[in-house]
Amino acid sequence: MSHYPHMLAPLDLGHTTLKNRVIMGSMHTNLEETKDWNRVAEFYAERARGGAALMVTGGIAPNPEGGVFPGAAGLYSEQDIANHKIVTDRVHAAGGKIVMQILHAGRYAYGPDCVSASPVKSPISPFAPKELDEAGIEKQIADFATAAVNARAAGYDGVEVMGSEGYFINQFLVTHVNKRTDRWGGSYENRMRLALEIMKRVRGAVGDDFIIIYRLSMIDLIPNGSTHEEVVQLAQEIEKAGATMINTGIGWHEARIPTIATSVPRAGFAWVTKKLMGKVGIPLITSNRINMPDVAERVLAESCADLVSMARPFLADPHFVVKAEQGRAAEIAPCIACNQACLDHTFQGKISSCLVNPRACFETELRLEPVDGAKKIAVVGAGPAGMSAAIAAAERGHDVTVFERATEIGGQLNMAKQIPGKEEFRGFVDWFGTMAAKHGVTLELGREVGAGDLSGFDEVVLATGVLPRDPNIEGQDLPQVMSYVDLLSGRAKAGKRVAVVGAGGIGFDVCEFLVHEGVSPALDLAGWKEEWGVGDPAETRGGLAPDGPKPEAPAREVILLQRKAERHGKRLGKTTGWIHRAALKMKNVEMIGGVNYERIDAQGLHVSFGAARETPRVIQCDTIVLCAGQVSERSLAEALEAQGVSVHVIGGADVAGELDAKRAIDQGTRLAAVL
Ligand code: NAP
Ligand code: SF4
Repeated sequence: MSHYPHMLAPLDLGHTTLKNRVIMGSMHTNLEETKDWNRVAEFYAERARGGAALMVTGGIAPNPEGGVFPGAAGLYSEQDIANHKIVTDRVHAAGGKIVMQILHAGRYAYGPDCVSASPVKSPISPFAPKELDEAGIEKQIADFATAAVNARAAGYDGVEVMGSEGYFINQFLVTHVNKRTDRWGGSYENRMRLALEIMKRVRGAVGDDFIIIYRLSMIDLIPNGSTHEEVVQLAQEIEKAGATMINTGIGWHEARIPTIATSVPRAGFAWVTKKLMGKVGIPLITSNRINMPDVAERVLAESCADLVSMARPFLADPHFVVKAEQGRAAEIAPCIACNQACLDHTFQGKISSCLVNPRACFETELRLEPVDGAKKIAVVGAGPAGMSAAIAAAERGHDVTVFERATEIGGQLNMAKQIPGKEEFRGFVDWFGTMAAKHGVTLELGREVGAGDLSGFDEVVLATGVLPRDPNIEGQDLPQVMSYVDLLSGRAKAGKRVAVVGAGGIGFDVCEFLVHEGVSPALDLAGWKEEWGVGDPAETRGGLAPDGPKPEAPAREVILLQRKAERHGKRLGKTTGWIHRAALKMKNVEMIGGVNYERIDAQGLHVSFGAARETPRVIQCDTIVLCAGQVSERSLAEALEAQGVSVHVIGGADVAGELDAKRAIDQGTRLAAVL
């Protein structure tokens, strides 16, 4: 019997049947905006081949004013319909089903023409929306219906009406934005009117044999959000208005509670969907931080929902469902919920991809073709760059040996996995091990190689990584000073009052490590909810806990220092930096910028400020952790090059500055594709 009987069970929707309970949720990848429809089609077709029962496209605007940004993809003309048909045909040929998400951003539309219920500016946009009049509202409703008709003409199996995450429809639902006194505002019946009109008009326009998913915000996580009672009422009316299924939306984009970051416990919001189970007659879909088949199976077995939606996991591994079906779940590349290559790219206007799978959205360009003649390849270093290069090269058919000085694979990822809230990195390192074994990579662990050991290989790839940068602070050899490597590897222990030198990604991570003790909040849902102030929408509007966040007292007093005068964490990930800052603030981490490091002595860390090295201050502490960045470890490259051996240097050994796993893995995979 299958390990995932609930997840793999078919679902009869009346006019059509879904082959399992897995939906690939909507993601805005910026692919549609490339207008390279072959590339868009290949992205979705690859995931259809991977077994998702139904996929939801990225948001497609029903009209220009509703586009997430000016020029966002829409479906307006005959040409647009023909372009989308390329995608739907390819998906259907691959045995998949696909629905188009209709996304009207309302006041989240990043442009001066944005519209909403009332002219209430969002805190995450510089543009105040125009208040729609009666005719304006009618136009928006008609545009939704037209978009659905066009979607049908383009061959889609249905549409998803985006009613959550604080977008247009959601803005009408709550008094947070809707200040109207006409028939579209005031009472809840009035505020629901837009959602219901859109649903009725869309259903009326497309007929019965067409899937309509309504994505409903089940917990807004903002002040004056919906109550659970209102959510139930809306869901029941949406069902009556003709929805086929209801999908779960969690939190508005302006909410200050993380909803999908890696520090959110797995399936951390499935309980919200569960509250609605049994209150409507149509299937419910749950989502957020469901990233592995066992998590999906548990959520369904516990009757939290009828289906699960996973979005980013399908970037990480398009073949998620097929691998689960075939008993190969360990081979599923895990989405570690880092946002680094997907959402962070989207918000920078770049094409999304995936840290663990650089082929995501680059399917037509980055191909791992089988090789004609196998080469003997040596890879030195088993960090993310080396392992990606080794696995991809072996997958193509090369004979690959990895030499690693440490006794385990993973390199810097082994530091990351010690951080509370970064437990997903553990599975990621395990996955490297699984895939290396599958493709026959020989691992020589605990083996330090010199230039003389690498003769006899056709290609040598050096992925020897990085070394901590020496900040050269007077007194840094004292016993109370340690590097982040000493601390995170367990070789050294921190005292009760700790100064952290360097506020890059690792400085922030080290602070998280220092302020927590005991079970990580990411593994303790009740504790995590309390820490961030997530309450029950049946008790408080929007699901904000009445007393706000109640973080546990920090395990240590921590001071985080940097020389730059800018805001701490300014250069962290676009969609996650605010979470890291908020988390440390909750733990009273003191952030001091603009310092010069003068010296360390028994009193603590002496700093001064400004070019004139003024206002000396002693940061009293019993431990100082150095997180001053990295330098490349490329001594072997230099020795090999001196012998005239040509080497490929990748990852941190190539460029240490701004090194992250995303760049290392991308570089390793791209090199392997051409070896
Ligand atoms: P980093 O981001 O380059 O930060 C290094 C820090 O050290 C900076 O705060 C820098 O700030 C300080 N510094 C640089 N030279 C110094 C010197 N000579 N003396 C004292 N301080 C010095 O490096 P990292 O923190 O080691 O992180 C490495 C990479 O891993 C980063 O690219 C990061 O993206 C990635 N990473 C990301 C995350 C995340 O996003 N959550 C987590 C972990 C790692 P000042 O010059 O202002 O002092
Ligand atoms: Fe998941 Fe990170 Fe990949 Fe995004 S980049 S899909 S969050 S692993």
